[in-house]
Amino acid sequence: MRPEVTLPRFLDLADPATPAGKALIAIAIRGEASAADLVADTGMSRSSVSGLLTELRGSGAVLDVLRAQKGVGRPTLVHALNPALGVLAGILLGLGEIRVILCDAARQALAAEHVLLKVGYSPQDAVAISTEVLTRLTATLGLTPRELVGVGLAVSAPISREGTVLYGGIFPTWNGTRIGPLFAAALGCPVHVDNESHCGALYEMSFGAAKGESDFVMFKFDLGTGGAIVMDGKIRRGANGFGGELGHLTIDPRGALCRCGNRGCLDTYTGGNQLIAEAARTLGHALSLSEFVAEARAGHLGHRRLIEDAGEYAGIGLAMMGSSLNPPMFLITGGLALAGELFLAPMRASYDRHTLCRPSLLPEAQRTRFLTGTSPATDNVLGAVVLVLRQEMRVG
Ligand SMILES: [Zn+2]
Repeated sequence: MRPEVTLPRFLDLADPATPAGKALIAIAIRGEASAADLVADTGMSRSSVSGLLTELRGSGAVLDVLRAQKGVGRPTLVHALNPALGVLAGILLGLGEIRVILCDAARQALAAEHVLLKVGYSPQDAVAISTEVLTRLTATLGLTPRELVGVGLAVSAPISREGTVLYGGIFPTWNGTRIGPLFAAALGCPVHVDNESHCGALYEMSFGAAKGESDFVMFKFDLGTGGAIVMDGKIRRGANGFGGELGHLTIDPRGALCRCGNRGCLDTYTGGNQLIAEAARTLGHALSLSEFVAEARAGHLGHRRLIEDAGEYAGIGLAMMGSSLNPPMFLITGGLALAGELFLAPMRASYDRHTLCRPSLLPEAQRTRFLTGTSPATDNVLGAVVLVLRQEMRVG
């Protein structure tokens, strides 16, 4: 019979102020890390890392894995979190939907649920529905929400460091709501909160297309337009939490009224909601963003024109960031990115026309790179789990 081993709690170890916590979080962020990765990520010496790995392995928090190399090389030894360290949850509070996912510490999905709701649901509805779903899903694992390592919340609005919803998101009636503390009080476990685009960027830089990239600007073109600015490996949230709200760059001060109260914001040109509303007017019936994109790809001329025009405006927004930050890479994600070159080609051409550092004038190796996201539909809810793994934006 195997002896009972009592594993430490992830949170007791994952204290970024301690060397062991730093190493554990670095492993959590990478999923699997070699000793050399940990030296690079933590700035600690090889011998310190080796000592910490012995300690973490001894406590059962970290497991060794032999990973086969591509080609004929010898397998390499990497280190991963013990999945039994605990269960983490991610929740997306989005436009007319709540998504919930449960993962183990090795990020394997254990359970998930997608709830469709009336647009304009209240913060109290969000807490009640999420608590009910989490209670039910954790019960299938023999747990309660209180026993979770933590819950990450991805909210479709700017969020302050204290977990308060700020104006400009898709929840105009939630302005000033302390959504983080509300969830923490209801669930009884640590809660981490951030804007959904920031969560998407965290996912992409931890496990997706931007893995290993420390400087880039992400634009998310979905039902709404969002973004994230990543510099030196960190999401820049700004003084008040409005950093990276790229959907509200002013394209035309006399343009259409935006939900934020300003006029002519980028989102009024590129927001999928606006595009499908316009398409619906000509079609005479409503359609979803994915149906709109699929019909455009299949050749619908009107939809194609709307997407091409949105691409041109998107390029102006990118050019503003290009001329102010000159990032080496843009990460383009969201449902409109799934239109592929139909959207991306006019976006890149417009970027080249409107930015100071024109890619077309640079040698190939120095040009700004454009990558597309790997999981536009679920990067936000998976990124909420990454918030917990990285121990960022904790409110309670
Ligand atoms: Zn706006």
